[in-house]
Amino acid sequence: METRLINKDKLAGIVGKIAEDMPVFAPVKEEDNVLFKQLEKGQAPLISFANSKNAPKNFFFPHSERMMKYTRTEQGMVFAGAAEDAKESVLFGVRPCDAHSYLLLDMLFDQEKYRDSFYIDKREKTVVISLACVHPPYTTCFCTSVDGSPTAADGADILLTEIGTDYLAEFITAKGEKLLKYFADAPKADDKALDAKKAIAEKAAQEIKSHIPAKAVKPILDVNFENPFWNTIHQKCLACGTCTYLCPTCHCFDISDEVKGNDGIRLRNWDSCMFPLFTKETSGHNPRTSQKERWRQRAMHKFKYFVDNFNAIACVGCGRCVMYCPVNIDIRKIVEDISKL
Ligand code: SF4
Ligand code: SF4
Repeated sequence: METRLINKDKLAGIVGKIAEDMPVFAPVKEEDNVLFKQLEKGQAPLISFANSKNAPKNFFFPHSERMMKYTRTEQGMVFAGAAEDAKESVLFGVRPCDAHSYLLLDMLFDQEKYRDSFYIDKREKTVVISLACVHPPYTTCFCTSVDGSPTAADGADILLTEIGTDYLAEFITAKGEKLLKYFADAPKADDKALDAKKAIAEKAAQEIKSHIPAKAVKPILDVNFENPFWNTIHQKCLACGTCTYLCPTCHCFDISDEVKGNDGIRLRNWDSCMFPLFTKETSGHNPRTSQKERWRQRAMHKFKYFVDNFNAIACVGCGRCVMYCPVNIDIRKIVEDISKL
């Protein structure tokens, strides 16, 4: 694996050079929020930040995406292409939990049987540069309970880890190595730097103080679909969908057509299993009649169904749903309670 040591003062310049050649999306501060946005000419990315409020999943799975457009003509319907092809680009500053979520989304959108060309096109053309959390930023972080770590490279093409006055850059994939030319002035990392990275990684993992028995609950969920426990967790849920919209791994969408005159577009838009309308059928029947069934679905999907289908938990422990739920519903407590059923 290629490695480089980059002086901290040089990193923004390297990102700027890449941005001269292709779109670079990076964290920037807007009012009190950290958002991933395309860097403007000369704009420096935010390098010292906790994490973005929104998970950077929209680059591969946008909130709203055109699937095709069509026109009714006298000769019949004329269908035009889907969304525009993605451009080669770079996503800089993704935290390891969010990069891990890309592996989970890949499992879903890039299966042998179902290949989602919209997602795959963008994913294949984007180099993900991840920024390790040498000090995990929040008390709500629990990545180490769900197969992650604050310094893991899963889902990243290049991983940057702060080591003293430098960043260690590890070029994880061939896609990442394509950017090596921008790091030409940076020396290869020596053994001392690689040892320092190991020590930093161990310490960062130890700084995660929130632990949940996420891997233990699958067999419990297998046999507790009808447990009265499900009556106890949802009462204060407002069905606002915040938890699902901010979640890096949630991926439900709805497809709709918008037609004006002879022209129409077909869109897919994010949806949420927390919404009553999500499962409402045309007949008016709704198989998930209350928030109880909806919350059970959310827990089951993340910790049982996704494990059944892909042998992976559909949660990366970013803690966003814990931090931003307006009524303080805490998925960590729910998993803890399930483990005691
Ligand atoms: S954020 Fe909280 S209140 Fe809103 S849907 Fe999720 S659990 Fe319910
Ligand atoms: S379920 Fe919550 S903690 Fe887990 S990945 Fe989604 S937002 Fe993050």
